[in-house]
Amino acid sequence: MSNQVPIAEGLFTWPAANPALLGSRCKSCGIAAFPAAKSCMACSGQNVEIEELPGRGTLWTWTVQRFMPKSPYNSGETPETFKPYGVGYLELPGGVRVEGRLTENDPAKLRIGMEMEVVFEPYRTEDNGDEVISFFFKPVA
Ligand SMILES: [Zn+2]
Repeated sequence: MSNQVPIAEGLFTWPAANPALLGSRCKSCGIAAFPAAKSCMACSGQNVEIEELPGRGTLWTWTVQRFMPKSPYNSGETPETFKPYGVGYLELPGGVRVEGRLTENDPAKLRIGMEMEVVFEPYRTEDNGDEVISFFFKPVA
């Protein structure tokens, strides 16, 4: 039985029935940030609150990565197993943009402004068999 572990603590709720990305919102000026920060990037205020971000947004911009990234951005691929993948920014209601991998890598199926949902899927498998879970953006069918 393998465990599923989050790629980093504090990025999203895990384990959870309906996992959600975790951002921070400044209670002074209202600016939201992801990943969550202890102070506001806009006004430097310390009065920030962690909140679950919406699970759907629109694709703000995107590209397809066609060469293998270096560690730690590599999910365990080798030159033999590497497949190009989509990467982009999802703009969420409430004014925060989140960068992440896309589940789709076919440029014909991607366009700016399309609706996408945040999904949580295995990113790589550790030597001990643990599945490392990360977040991805998936086109809403
Ligand atoms: Zn602020």
